[in-house]
This record gives sequence, C-alpha cells and structure tokens, in this order.
Amino acid sequence: MPLTIPQPLYDQLRAHGEETYPHECCGILLGTADEQNLTVAHLLRAGNTRTDSAHNRYHIAPQELIAAQREGRKLGLDIVGFYHSHPDHPAQWSPTDFAEAHWFGCAYVITSVDGDKTTGTAQITNSFLLTGTSEDDKTFANQPIVVG
Ligand SMILES: [Zn+2]
Repeated sequence: MPLTIPQPLYDQLRAHGEETYPHECCGILLGTADEQNLTVAHLLRAGNTRTDSAHNRYHIAPQELIAAQREGRKLGLDIVGFYHSHPDHPAQWSPTDFAEAHWFGCAYVITSVDGDKTTGTAQITNSFLLTGTSEDDKTFANQPIVVG
C-alpha cells in the first residue's frame, strides 16, 4: 500500500525539516485512505512539544491531534499519517518512534536532514506503514512513496 503525496506537499514536508534543523520537526498528514492507497491532501505542522530533547524525540500533543481531526472533518479528510525529521540521523524509525506509534493503518514518514548544526538539507524521505491490530502484533512495514 503506497503513500501518494503531491509534489508541493512532499517539498513542504521536507522543507519543514530543514527549517527546524538541528531540531526535529513533526506534523500530521491529512488525506484519504482506501484499500489500495493512502493519499495525502493536506499537511498540518505540529509544534514539537517535547522540549527536553527535541533532537531525538518527538511528540504531537493530544490537543493538536484533536484539532487536526476537526480540521480534517472540515475538509472531508482523515488523519492518514504523521511525519517528522531525523537531524543528522538516517531516515529509519527508532525504537522510540515504534513505541510511540499507535495509529494502525497510518503512514509514519521520516526525513533525514544532514547539516553542520546550523543549516541542514533534507536527504532521504522514507515512509513506514503501521500494520497490525494491537500493541502486541504491530509492525512497521516499508511503504513506497509515490510523489505526484
Ligand atoms: Zn524518529
């Protein structure tokens, strides 16, 4: 099940990680889901509420999730995924990312941003689909990204 994302949104998602570098960015993907595809139609930036170590952990506040669902309803869209950046780390999920992923059937998009601690450039963007039905059988599956 690929993640389809229009080029402008894909660019914005990656640019967000460059803007917040050397800190992580995070956000919510609104769109539509069917049996074949997750399609992104709108991005919502989220504040990184974890101030203790914003460079290697991220968190979207419950109020932001509720606001995102409300915004989605207005637009006729659902939450189909989440994105965040990995400053100076590979675009692979971490044990923390996995532990904090609870939205089954949603895409978790990670962009690596490499730089010199002042300015960073987005490198690789990967998506992982959270599959399973509970905390006991959940897995991250590599998910192709279709841009355009
Ligand atoms: Zn991460």
